Amino acid sequence: MKPVAIIGGGITGLTAAFRLEQHGIPATLFEAADRVGGVIQTVRDGEYLAECGPNTIMETSPLIGDLVRDLGLEDRRIYSSDQTGNRYIVRDKRPVKLPESLLEFLLTPLFSCRAKARLMVEPFIRRAPADVEENLASFVRRRIGREFLDYAINPFVAGVYAGSPERLSVREAFPKLHALEQRYGSLILGQILGGRERKRQGGVSSKNAPKFSFDQGLETLTDALGQRLKEQIRTGQAISEITQRNNSWSLGQAGDYSAVLLALPAFRLAEMQVNFESKPVNLSMLADIQYAPVASVVLGFHRHDVAHPLDGFGALNPVVEQLHSLGTIFSSSLFPGRAPLGQVLLTSYVGGLRAPHLVSKTPDELCDLVMDDLKTVLGVNGEPTYRHVFVHRRAIPQYDVGYDRFKSFMNELETNVSGLFFAGHCRDGVSLVDSIVSGHEAAGRIANHLKKID
Ligand SMILES: Cc1cc2nc3c(=O)[nH]c(=O)nc-3n(C[C@H](O)[C@H](O)[C@H](O)COP(=O)(O)OP(=O)(O)OC[C@H]3O[C@@H](n4cnc5c(N)ncnc54)[C@H](O)[C@@H]3O)c2cc1C
Repeated sequence: MKPVAIIGGGITGLTAAFRLEQHGIPATLFEAADRVGGVIQTVRDGEYLAECGPNTIMETSPLIGDLVRDLGLEDRRIYSSDQTGNRYIVRDKRPVKLPESLLEFLLTPLFSCRAKARLMVEPFIRRAPADVEENLASFVRRRIGREFLDYAINPFVAGVYAGSPERLSVREAFPKLHALEQRYGSLILGQILGGRERKRQGGVSSKNAPKFSFDQGLETLTDALGQRLKEQIRTGQAISEITQRNNSWSLGQAGDYSAVLLALPAFRLAEMQVNFESKPVNLSMLADIQYAPVASVVLGFHRHDVAHPLDGFGALNPVVEQLHSLGTIFSSSLFPGRAPLGQVLLTSYVGGLRAPHLVSKTPDELCDLVMDDLKTVLGVNGEPTYRHVFVHRRAIPQYDVGYDRFKSFMNELETNVSGLFFAGHCRDGVSLVDSIVSGHEAAGRIANHLKKID
């Protein structure tokens, strides 16, 4: 059997190659960079451990645990401690704990009495017609009011998409929220009734899902996949053209394959030359998918130089607070072994669609901006003992209103172009869980296709 070609060696492509191997299907993975892992990149610097890209995996799908187990990494997985359940939102330049119970909600200074009263009306607001695609900001204003948009949704969106609620499609970017309204007619009722249903089915909500990393950071996962697939991986090989001929796919000098999986960012997919049945297949429309730029600024401090207890996951900055950064993760509170004894490690993000120009600043300037925020919000009063800055010019795809056309385009190509498959963050969701599930499911679709044509 000719092998399957997988193009792109981020977590999506690696997962797909690993799962294909388990289906007994040989695969060769091509990666443009000199390392696999894509945006997952961990830097170990003495006793500091900095994540340049993602920090945590949320275990919302059983496929995640399966992958960790199958790679023999269970002993190296570290769950974030229970004490880091607190999440802070900045209001009036101070971190305020996000309420977790009805009592906390009633007492919190995060929302005004007026906003709390407005929330009570939510179950009585009519649902939007199912076929109307609404942006997240308008959805939230309509259902729960402006203040929740400013102090709950805006910072949350900054944390997940580094994007803008005015542009993101509630149906595409937050399908669960959209489904709650459509199914229960109310987010509040949906939370209660959906939670009961989920409990019965043994599911886990993202809020309650365990979060984890590994003793040597998230790169442990992609390194382990890289090791397992060593013989099948070709790094430093950017593929720019694929041609289907005589029932197989040719990658030019790189050989012939039974099928091709494209596990690439949209802006690279758009550049790919695809030839099928002697005709070009134009992928250039995928260049219209917008990406938010993000700079990760990782700083170490002596513990006594930070006034805040850092007893949580981190603090998110609403745009109305006019800070420079999107928010900060309390990295050394989340996982042990990220900073030397007596020190702490904080990871802040700058840029996003909120302030894309900021990522063009020098590392020194980025550190200064973040220091300004940390002094104000967390009471930092000493110089950093460690710093690492990493800029992603095109970090996270934006599932804006109208995104469905891109997904339909990729799905139609999968149906009509025999042996061509798509997976990854621009098709199946932007989180690591989404990418792992995407790689896993793509391997299943490829296995079915090969069975059919056998
Ligand atoms: C700063 C940041 C923080 C994040 N934080 C979190 C988090 O905490 N938790 C979470 O769940 N998610 C997080 N995410 C999202 C998550 O990391 C990504 O969605 C996921 O890693 C995407 O994986 P992927 O394999 O689809 O794409 P990528 O990681 O982008 O991999 C694509 C690969 O394709 C390669 N490639 C490109 N062109 C070619 C070519 N022509 N030929 C061959 N190879 C090519 C690239 O070099 C790259 O290695 C974060 C993302 C960023 C950027």
